[in-house]
Amino acid sequence: MYDWLIVGAGFAGAVLAERIASQRRESVLVIDRRPHIAGNAYDHTDAAGILIHQYGPHIFHTNAESVVNYLTQFTGWRPYEHRVLAQVGDKRLPMPINIDTVNGFFGLSLQTGEEMEAFLATRRVEIEKIRSAEDLVLSTVGPELYAAFFRDYTTKQWGMAPSRLPRSVTARVPTRASHDDRYFTDTFQMMPDRGYTAMFEAILDHPLIDVRLGVDFADLRDSGIFRRMVYTGPIDEFFGWRLGRLPYRSLRFEHRTLDQEWLQPVGVVNYPGTEPYTRVTEYKHLTGQTHPATSVTWEYPSAEGDPFYPIPEAQNQELYRQYRALADTLPDVWFVGRLGTYQYMNMDQVVAQALTTFGKIEATVGPRRPPRAAVTKPGKAPFRAPAPGLAD
Ligand code: FAD
Ligand code: UDP
Repeated sequence: MYDWLIVGAGFAGAVLAERIASQRRESVLVIDRRPHIAGNAYDHTDAAGILIHQYGPHIFHTNAESVVNYLTQFTGWRPYEHRVLAQVGDKRLPMPINIDTVNGFFGLSLQTGEEMEAFLATRRVEIEKIRSAEDLVLSTVGPELYAAFFRDYTTKQWGMAPSRLPRSVTARVPTRASHDDRYFTDTFQMMPDRGYTAMFEAILDHPLIDVRLGVDFADLRDSGIFRRMVYTGPIDEFFGWRLGRLPYRSLRFEHRTLDQEWLQPVGVVNYPGTEPYTRVTEYKHLTGQTHPATSVTWEYPSAEGDPFYPIPEAQNQELYRQYRALADTLPDVWFVGRLGTYQYMNMDQVVAQALTTFGKIEATVGPRRPPRAAVTKPGKAPFRAPAPGLAD
């Protein structure tokens, strides 16, 4: 019998497992249907001995000191500022768009932020109410840069026209009236020094936490071996899709090792044209590893496959709200994470959400549990016998 079942060993599940075990001193079973911990942040050493990210490049960046302080208990850090080049025709130009991108694209020699602003003012499209991902870019940089850098990339990434997506999607990528070519400007930009999986091993390394991999929640749902649960899988799946399916966008990753030291000058090169892939990642830039060969991943957006991205269209938010209302009727189940709350969140946001959820658990369930015998609520159906090999 466990006090808690946690479905999913990604950031949301691992952080809550750690908080519950270390702060409440309650027992936790963490399951994941994949054969590994760390969720989408999973990294491992490939056949050539190079550390790669199984599910595409994961760059840690945040402005949240509390998240950094929390994770620093489990990892050291290595400084890394992410830089991305976009392959536009035969040019590789900085992305996000900055003064040098504009100069390279239009053959100009703008120098200052004022010159950049004045130039963009001549390209911008006047849009009264900026609603969509398309509106935002058109009204910021105009049609030429939109077509070259955003239109086709967004269409292939999401499988729909940018006019159907909310502005928040392209708002993730700012335009810079400067020469700053970093992808992020957060105060903290570091990678876990031994990788994400090693950090997750440390987070989950607690005597009150058991981890079982290759186990689907469906296998344990009726096992009766847990009292409360945290669910970080897709919320619509939890409810048997009874209100309809929430759409997710997926990706296919093509991992290759090349017999050369480097393929590209930066960690990621974006392909904003009509190639079927969106970007190519070369991991040694991210990890600082030295190796005579190099491992690289091509990312192909796809409708089929693991649910990676909640699709932030308005009608999906409405369906999510209906699932959320069902979730709110279950006092002993907490829904967390990118899939559990159907939100396009970065890793630091998921950690922050998990820490906040832990606060809510403390407030709702009360401080730590009393001795086990006293916990079983009168009137609650007795739990069934534990499945063999799964009980503590
Ligand atoms: P997940 O990591 O998805 O973990 C959920 C886990 O639950 C999964 O392992 C899944 O197998 C398991 N699960 C689901 N259902 C069940 C079930 N029924 N039974 C058992 N197990 C189940 N964020 C950044 O901050 N920086 C980046 O650079 C970045 N790059 C990204 C690149 C890509 C390609 C993607 C897809 C995401 C990226 N992210 C990035 C976002 C980051 O991956 C997420 O914020 C984070 O991993 C979400 O953690 P999570 O725990 O919510 O979900
Ligand atoms: N985007 C684009 N061209 C690019 C990079 C991003 O059109 O070269 C758009 C695309 O719609 C993408 C969004 O901006 O989904 C957000 O980009 P980000 O790099 O934040 O996406 P992530 O890979 O983190 O989901």
